[in-house]
Amino acid sequence: MTSATDTGIDASGATRAAADATAAAAPSAASRREQEIRAELANNPQALQALDRLVAGLDAYALDDARRVQALDDFMAAPNAATAAYVEGRIAQALGEDFAAAHALVSPDAGTLTIGGQVYSIDHGALLDADGRQAGTITNDGVVRLDGEEQARNVYTDLSARVQLRETIDGELSTLLDLHPADRRGRLDDANVNRQFADRVKDTLVRARQEGMAMQMDLVYRTFAHQDQLYAQGRTEPGQRVTNARGGQSWHNYGLGADVVFSTPAGQPSWPEDGNWTRYGEIAEAQGLTWGGRWQNPDRPHVEYHPGFGASDAGDFIATHGRDGLEGVWDRMDIGQQP
Ligand SMILES: [Zn+2]
Repeated sequence: MTSATDTGIDASGATRAAADATAAAAPSAASRREQEIRAELANNPQALQALDRLVAGLDAYALDDARRVQALDDFMAAPNAATAAYVEGRIAQALGEDFAAAHALVSPDAGTLTIGGQVYSIDHGALLDADGRQAGTITNDGVVRLDGEEQARNVYTDLSARVQLRETIDGELSTLLDLHPADRRGRLDDANVNRQFADRVKDTLVRARQEGMAMQMDLVYRTFAHQDQLYAQGRTEPGQRVTNARGGQSWHNYGLGADVVFSTPAGQPSWPEDGNWTRYGEIAEAQGLTWGGRWQNPDRPHVEYHPGFGASDAGDFIATHGRDGLEGVWDRMDIGQQP
């Protein structure tokens, strides 16, 4: 039998317990932001690793919730290991920590940079030219300041930049960022490639770079004749089958298809089985592109752009192409060149 008093104690105890549970379960804005970021980067293991490193670094400082959210947002601008070091270093600087240690995080200790056709070596944030003279600075957020230039450059948005940033971590020099030129042959700037499509592919490449993924253009525009030649391969000609599309049946033939691949450490194109293809596909889809990795016969490097049309509709444009060329096709699709 339960007395009235017991019931009262039970009730208030239960209320207290419920209140405690609510307090414990209510996540801070920073932990909510961190969970959001983890979900967004779920298919980019390197970026998640960088986030882990940042979070461990942040734990060492008694940051309030707002500053922690700010640090996470700053990291998301380019979620990779170099940014993680930069964000932690800036916090250390703001908190007046040991200057040398903070500077070491903000600026890369070593590495190389090729930008604007010039090659520099990196020495603790200084850019040294071939004669060993300082010609500018670089920070771990990817910002490059060259002496005599008003405008800062950026290793992510400058798709032609080659950059390798290295940092001493726990006594060992490790690579934070290693990117190669993303379109060294200028294939996206080919007049046969639709501008709206090229811009979306470039934005995809920029975001991939920001996420520490070294990628580069493989094939973009392909003539009908070249497509027919590829189609013959493995059918009437020797070799392996590489395509199911004849001339005019591939979006590559209209400047609306492209293949993006990974770069080896030496900068060569590669198709690694364990590459971050899914993350690449997500980034491309966020730019409004159709990604071949979702097809029944996946074509993971392939992206294409045909708003309002299906992947298999390319062949519908053969007659238009024959009569009015690429411009005619793009006009009919309402993605004509901007003046
Ligand atoms: Zn393709």
